[in-house]
Amino acid sequence: MRPTCCIARQFCGRQRTQSSGITALVTLAGDVTSNDGRLRIAVKDNICTSSLPTTCSSAMLYHYHSPFDATSVRLLREAGAHIIGKANCDEFGMGSLNVNSVHGPVINPFQAHNALGAARDHGERRSAGGSSGGSAASVAAGICDAALGTDTGGSVRLPASYCGVVGLKPSYGLISRFGVISFADSLDCVGVLGNSVDIVKQVFNSVSVYDPKDPTAATDDLRKKARLASDPYIPALTSSLEGLRIGVPQEYFPSELDPSIVHILRTVLRRLEAAGASLIPVSIPATKFALSAYYVIASAEASSNLARFDGVRYGFQAPTPSGTTTTKTSDIYALSRSKGFGKEVQKRILLGTYALTADAFDNYFLQAQRVRTRIKEGFNKVFRIPCVQSALPSPPENGVDILIHPSAIRTAPPLDNISADDDGLSGLGEYLQDVMTVPVSLAGLPALSVPAGLGADGWPVGVSVVGQWGCDGFVLRVGEAIE
Ligand code: GLN
Repeated sequence: MRPTCCIARQFCGRQRTQSSGITALVTLAGDVTSNDGRLRIAVKDNICTSSLPTTCSSAMLYHYHSPFDATSVRLLREAGAHIIGKANCDEFGMGSLNVNSVHGPVINPFQAHNALGAARDHGERRSAGGSSGGSAASVAAGICDAALGTDTGGSVRLPASYCGVVGLKPSYGLISRFGVISFADSLDCVGVLGNSVDIVKQVFNSVSVYDPKDPTAATDDLRKKARLASDPYIPALTSSLEGLRIGVPQEYFPSELDPSIVHILRTVLRRLEAAGASLIPVSIPATKFALSAYYVIASAEASSNLARFDGVRYGFQAPTPSGTTTTKTSDIYALSRSKGFGKEVQKRILLGTYALTADAFDNYFLQAQRVRTRIKEGFNKVFRIPCVQSALPSPPENGVDILIHPSAIRTAPPLDNISADDDGLSGLGEYLQDVMTVPVSLAGLPALSVPAGLGADGWPVGVSVVGQWGCDGFVLRVGEAIE
């Protein structure tokens, strides 16, 4: 089912793995096929590693080598893991299809199967999803045991769903962002991908530690409060799910949703119901505004974060055009940023800068922040587990413990009609891929995508389990019941 061959080859002075043509890993730490018993981990290329370059899949940072490890990487090394290489991604994490990369697109290693189990569409190139496409593809191809990704608006859950692996976006603040190159700080989370919920849990437990170097890290006290708040609601969850209240949010069935995904979700829900869980339809009305609000907030933060890459203090400096001698710093900035950043990143910087201008600030940025508050309130109104981050009115007694919804509106899109330059799927269509994942990101909640079956086209479909803030352990336990 999964390609096992993994050939490392030289690429632009670096090595990248090819497995059925996947450009999943962009730098290798050594022989990725050796198995010395240590957990083999791939790390998304926007997370700093002292032993390997960190390019963010951008020409801007093509030669960047961090002097330190990100806290998540340091913790994994201390736990005995072997960091096998850096995983391809969309440039600075911006994208849903992993086509916006200086290293080239990531090809999904999954081979579609027909109803009789025979591989079909052999050789069809499909997207691995983004932006952590290299992390998901490396896990799916068996190159590593688990991978670190980042999820700002769905970048762990979407590729996990497209590649048929498990992907966790933890509660915001549980895994340190120290050493993660920021895209949108208020949304960025380090996430974990693996072939089973168990391995994701193992990696998550090693890296979910308070870090004083991250000013947004959740304190030990808050983590403990979240555990105490959820404990009374966690049923034993062994063979029986008696007492578990599952919410099914009605806004997660848009017209664009593939009908075969609805069928798979129903099958999962019926299975959980048969094991004793109750299914409760719920509504989070502000969900319909989430995608627009996300793209305003994420782009605004990106425009500010990426201002540091100016070719003078940081990043690629473009050579001056032949025959000219420009010494004006503003010209160096303009040239370096035009050449160093790809099209999608430039689009976000322009959009974000506009949203932050005096004229647009109220209508765009503040409005998006209001939507974000409404979305957070919407989740708090459906969960019976209280939110420990703020003093809120008591949660509803008849509320739910977790939510379940499809992870994506479709299976992996074919790559051959997508290019980073067209405006088809890589334009608004690409943004639409995030419609299921961004509400949870805006609310900072934990979400786990678990493979749940194959769609009508024989490609993987994931379902997402969402919990109250800090209930990551709970979400993982429900994920095990689905697996
Ligand atoms: N696809 C979304 C975007 O392009 C999310 C990316 C992410 O989570 N890093 O903004």
